[in-house]
Amino acid sequence: MTRYIFCTGGVVSSLGKGVTAASIGRILKARGLEVVIQKLDPYINVDPGTMSPYQHGEVFVLDDGTETDLDLGHYERFTGVSLTKHCNVTTGQIYAEIISRERRGDFLGGTVQVIPHVTDEIKRRIRLVAEENGADVVIVEVGGTVGDIESLPFLEAIRQMRKDVGERNTCYIHLTLLPYIRATGELKTKPTQHSVRELRGIGIHPDVLVCRADYPIGDELLDKISLFGDVDREAVIPLETAETIYEVPLILERYGLGDYLVRRLALDAAPPDLDEWRELVYRLKHPKRDVHIALVGKYVGLHDAYISVHEALLHAAAYFESRLVLDWIDAEEVERGNALDRLQKADGIVVPGGFGERGIEGKIRAARFARENKVPYLGLCLGLQVMVIEFARHVLGDDRANSAEFDPQTPHPVVDLMLEQRNIRDMGGTMRLGSYPCVLVEGTKARRAYGVPQVSERHRHRYEINNRYREVLAKAGMVWSGLSPNGQLVEIGELRDHPWMLGSQFHPEFKTRPDAPHPLFRAFIEAALKNSRHRS
Ligand code: GLN
Repeated sequence: MTRYIFCTGGVVSSLGKGVTAASIGRILKARGLEVVIQKLDPYINVDPGTMSPYQHGEVFVLDDGTETDLDLGHYERFTGVSLTKHCNVTTGQIYAEIISRERRGDFLGGTVQVIPHVTDEIKRRIRLVAEENGADVVIVEVGGTVGDIESLPFLEAIRQMRKDVGERNTCYIHLTLLPYIRATGELKTKPTQHSVRELRGIGIHPDVLVCRADYPIGDELLDKISLFGDVDREAVIPLETAETIYEVPLILERYGLGDYLVRRLALDAAPPDLDEWRELVYRLKHPKRDVHIALVGKYVGLHDAYISVHEALLHAAAYFESRLVLDWIDAEEVERGNALDRLQKADGIVVPGGFGERGIEGKIRAARFARENKVPYLGLCLGLQVMVIEFARHVLGDDRANSAEFDPQTPHPVVDLMLEQRNIRDMGGTMRLGSYPCVLVEGTKARRAYGVPQVSERHRHRYEINNRYREVLAKAGMVWSGLSPNGQLVEIGELRDHPWMLGSQFHPEFKTRPDAPHPLFRAFIEAALKNSRHRS
């Protein structure tokens, strides 16, 4: 029998509900339980694939090619489980499904309503995840904040779930904030009380309250919250802002949430084993040296846009007992020639994925800087394309070389639209998406980094390296070190005459784990550290 843990949020957004759900997953996995996590997103978009990073941060891509909310990245990184398309449900998907059934005549003349039709479809999708994975525990995070109009059908559906699968098989966890009032120097519980009341008004009585705060939470406050919230005292969990998000599972464990859940849900669990996780957090918190990385991108004021890249760099830095010092450089600043001093300070340069022309010339300049100054460089998807454009322009001397994405008239489209992409008109879910195999060429940096002859990596792009230019580029020193099994698609390019300059057409950042940093990020950080020692 699968148990269900539902996570809701109150008071304000951005409390770290995704990290909390992921951390609960970790402490249950640490007890030998099979866990899967699902996110319910109240917006009407079918998926975040067509949304701007300003709206939604990064789009996280799963093995099966689904474009999902960035919280799924946290779920995978914290639990080590690879999720599937059923793990991210949006209002848009629910309505698309119901309306197409209505058009088919499936409702036999009935009126189609939010209750029961929408809530039934939501519940069907929650159960689908349980069935598909045969998991002991399904953790369901409801996006948004209690009180939002658009999340009501999801809350109603999870309320009904308790009736459907039984009180003992469900647990409601509500995450709230205790704001700090500086004038009196105290944390306030009132917003939490209101938020719990709001939730109860909908018929959900929370079993656990996780209280976020930026300051230590005293016992008397926890007593008070337990009383007013009508929640067991041991189920009121204080969660002070942690130094690193990877510490959150340890904090929840320290306050007994793991044991509480095991008892509450009568789970057949082993004693928790978090030793490795503890070591990892120790390494993150006690670095021995710094590694300075410049990330040259378009959304640098918006760290959520590159969250997986950040985590991948962090995991690799921690592996080498180093502190990641990340300088987020606006590509347009590089374009204007303003950021040279910042590039000079970097031990390594990353150009992440991206779409559209803005900032492209700045990224090309950054790649040129890395090549000419022998600074380690890692290009992710667009970062590979930029590296190839730069090489064609300044090594081959084709000064108008470009991607057809940015200059459709270029005489040298070294990056061009993929054949399968030519007749596509719909923008949603139509890129080259998800995992594809990549064969690594012997004797290359990529092959050495991975240590195996073939890998599988996740993609999200429409353009590719133009095969017509492969040979001339190769003659000039570009090594095609990763290819699709039929040899038709370039998946990795690297420079022969450079300490470490490599770009991948896929996004390795989607497959990194704190306890298993991605091989390409590891090799890149290793090269950056070498560069740093060399310079000092
Ligand atoms: N815009 C490029 C393409 O579509 C790169 C995409 C990316 O970096 N994810 O191919």
